[in-house]
Order: sequence, then C-alpha cells, then structure tokens
Amino acid sequence: MKIVPLHRRGVGEGCGEPEDPPRRLTPSPLPGGDFQRRVAARCQRGIAVLFLLLILIFLILASSIFITWNRWEGQSPTLRFDRDFKALGRNPSLSLLIEDSGCGLKNISVNLKQKDQLVSLVEEQYPAPSSFGRSRIQKSKTFEIGKLIAEKYKAQEGPASLVVTASDHAVRNFFRGNQTHLQRDFVFDIFPPRLEVLSGQHYINQGGSECVVYRVSPDAEVSGVQAGPHFFPGYPANRGDPNLKFCLFAFAYNIPADSPLKIVARDAAGNEAVAGFWYKLFPKKFRSRDIKVEDSFLQKAVPEIMSHTSEIKDQGDLAKTFVELNSKLRRLNHALIAELAQKSPARFLWDGSFLQLSNSQVESLFADHRTYLYQGKEIDRQDHVGFDLSVVQQYPIEASNDGVVVYADYLGIYGNCVMIDHGCGRLSLYGHLSSINVKAGQQVKKKDVLGRSGATGLAGGDHLHFGLFLHGVPVNPNEWWDGKWIKDHVLDRLKPTPESAGGGSQQSVVSTRP
Ligand SMILES: [Zn+2]
Repeated sequence: MKIVPLHRRGVGEGCGEPEDPPRRLTPSPLPGGDFQRRVAARCQRGIAVLFLLLILIFLILASSIFITWNRWEGQSPTLRFDRDFKALGRNPSLSLLIEDSGCGLKNISVNLKQKDQLVSLVEEQYPAPSSFGRSRIQKSKTFEIGKLIAEKYKAQEGPASLVVTASDHAVRNFFRGNQTHLQRDFVFDIFPPRLEVLSGQHYINQGGSECVVYRVSPDAEVSGVQAGPHFFPGYPANRGDPNLKFCLFAFAYNIPADSPLKIVARDAAGNEAVAGFWYKLFPKKFRSRDIKVEDSFLQKAVPEIMSHTSEIKDQGDLAKTFVELNSKLRRLNHALIAELAQKSPARFLWDGSFLQLSNSQVESLFADHRTYLYQGKEIDRQDHVGFDLSVVQQYPIEASNDGVVVYADYLGIYGNCVMIDHGCGRLSLYGHLSSINVKAGQQVKKKDVLGRSGATGLAGGDHLHFGLFLHGVPVNPNEWWDGKWIKDHVLDRLKPTPESAGGGSQQSVVSTRP
C-alpha cells in the first residue's frame, strides 16, 4: 500500500474534501543562508579551538619557563689553573678549577695535544638541575691536571697544548648551554736541572747550622737544601760563576736525627734534581727544666701581653690564658719571624762572628725543654729557642752583628722586641726589653745599642732573650758566636778557588769537627 503523506493528501488529488485554504507563503530562505550559518558556526568553533590552543600553548610555555626559569642565565663557566705556566715537566704540579655560578656544569672535556697526538684527560657529564631542587647542582670541579698527564701520557720534549671545554645547563644557544673554551699552549720540558755538589765533608750539630756549596744549571728556578721538613734556599756564591751557589741551612733541634738531608734544584717545569752530600750529624740531647708559674708572675705578665694582642681570647682565668699565650701566641710570634725572613736580601749584611751580649751571664740555654707547673700541676710544655742572658737591670742591649732592623715593637711573648735581618734569611731577636732605641728599616752596626734590657712579655725578671733564626728555624747561637766555627764552616767554603772559578770537578773542602 502506498502511503501518502498526510500533508500532501488532497492537494491536487480531488478526494472531495474541502481544500485547505491556501497557505500564506513565507519567503523561503535562500539556499546560501544555511551555508553561511554553517560557516559562521564553524568559524566560531574554530576560533574557540584556536583560543583553547593558544591558552594551551601559553600554559605549556608558561610552565616550561617556570620549570626552566633559572636556566635562562647567560653566565659561562670559568676556568682557572692554580698557577701560570709556560713549561711543564713529566710529572708537573698543576690543577684546574672549573666553576659555574649559574645553573651548574653540564659537561667538561680536557684534552692534551702534542704533535699529531690527542689524549683525553677528562670527559665528564653532570645531571641537569631539577626545578624542585632535588638533584645536586655541580657548581665546581677541580682536576689534578698534572697527575692526569703523568698517568695518561708519556710527555715528549717540545710544544704542546691543553684544550679545555666546559658548558653549563643553561637553555641558551638552542639548549647547548653557555660554553667556555680555552687553549693553553706550553712546552714540555722533561729534563731536570744539572746539579753538582762542590763542598766535601759536612759536620752538623743537631740544632746547629752548616753551609754547602754546589753548582746548578741556569734553568733551575729554585735550589737549596731540604733538611727534614725545612727548606733553605741557596744564594749565588759570587765567585764569577753565576751557577755557583751556597746554602746555609739548619738541622732543627726538634727533628729526628735520621731526617734526610739533600740538595734539590727545580726548574720552571717542575722537574726536580736531587743530590746527596757527605755529612755527619751529631745528635744532641737538650736539657729539661721545670718552670714554676707563680700567681705574681701571671698577674704581671698576662694582662700586659693581652693588652697588646688581639689574636688570643681571654680564658677568664690567668693560668688558662697564660697557656694560650705560651702555646698559641708563641707559634704566631715564630710564624712572623719566618715571614720576615722571606724578605731577607740575598747577601750577607753581617761581618765576622756574632757577639754575645757583653758581660752577660747565661741563665737559660738553647732548646731547653720546659715543663710549666702551676700549683704543683703540669699545665704546659714548650721549648726555649734562644739564650737568656742577664747583666744588670736596664743594661744596654747591643746588636750582635751588622744588619737592618726589621722589627722594633711589642711582640707577644717576647714583649718589647727588636729583630735584625743579617741577610740570606738570618734574623737575630732581642726580647723582653724595657725600652727600644731603634726603628724598623734602620741600618745598625755590631755593638750599636738597640734598647735596654727589661722584663716585658713572658719574663720573670730583667734579662735579654737572644734568639738566632735561619729562615724561621731557630739555630744554636753558640756556633755563630765562635769565629773559628764561622771561618771553617762558612767563610773558607766561600773563598774563590781555581776549581770553583772555572772547573767542574768535585772540590774537597777542609772541614773541622765541631
Ligand atoms: Zn728566653
């Protein structure tokens, strides 16, 4: 059966039913209107999607920037060698510090180039910093480049380069980070200086001094004697041969008698030549003394020294503060002596034997081991590194030899103190003075009056503390008060000889037993 739609029935069908009144025709929309609406709707949807997309992009960008905000910095890593160098030896001492003050190091490479060889010394990478601060940032790294060269490369004489590249975790440079590149050209110098000992036999007292003469090739930057832990530099011997050197050294009273003695010479590349020499050491046993610390002494000495020093804290108890002064301040005072010796001129300012204070009586000896007792109990132990000499109160204190005053002021445990530089690292010290007559920088002659004796600093009564130091190491003044000892051990060795003037043969120097 054919189904006719109701609304069409009768329309022109003639089924007898009255015809529907003619419908008022409303103007039908044009066919293009739908299309426009559809386009408009689509446009609206598109704009909405675009808008959402933009918001999304904005959010992604914003969150990326938030996460990486600290990685947009533009500071490149810095590279610093611990010393300037133009030459390196086979086993050089050289370290490299690489730092990044921004978002941390990302990678480091250090390569060594020589001729057609390229050796990687360092190749390291470090994780990126997290925005929540969980991962550790590698801010700095130190490499012992000298050791790495010695381990990884057999250096050959000639030019070479170190090439260092470091980058950080910054997002600049298309995420490659800030980069630093450095090429340092230098020369591998693998041969140590030539070293030849010229003086023959050396007899050394423990706590005493000795002189050695040697010849060293001009490439040596530094040379001298290593005596246990102490190094004493050599000086030109001035015999017409610029390579001829002498070295006055001390065998410290407080180092083991079997401490090694050797002459060393080092060039700019760090190559070291070592030479032994013949010597006989006479070990010494030094005296031990108990020092009773009385309250009257503490009341006199401690407040006076404290009023001149800022390095020591008041312990709120005279005996305890005394121990601080006797130990810590004593060390600081001796450190200053070593520091002053570094500026000493490379020539003798002294002439002939040193003088013991005229008419003086010896109260204490060099290197006495002192045990300090307070109310019957031991509170400290120290060594007395000089002589205590007494005459009468406020006795004129004479310069023991020619030189330049390098200190004339209060000096901790030594109270009012004068120090004279006699050249080549040797200083004499005059302590506990009541008054000082000289000024730093003043030239003095043997027997010139420096001031008057007294009891300032750690002194129980009026006396002179006389100390003699070689590059900061205390030496026994007995040898330097003895003209014969000076002639045999120092002056005769420095006299011009046919061998020293031109030859290179071993020279045997007449030595006497001390
Ligand atoms: Zn003394």
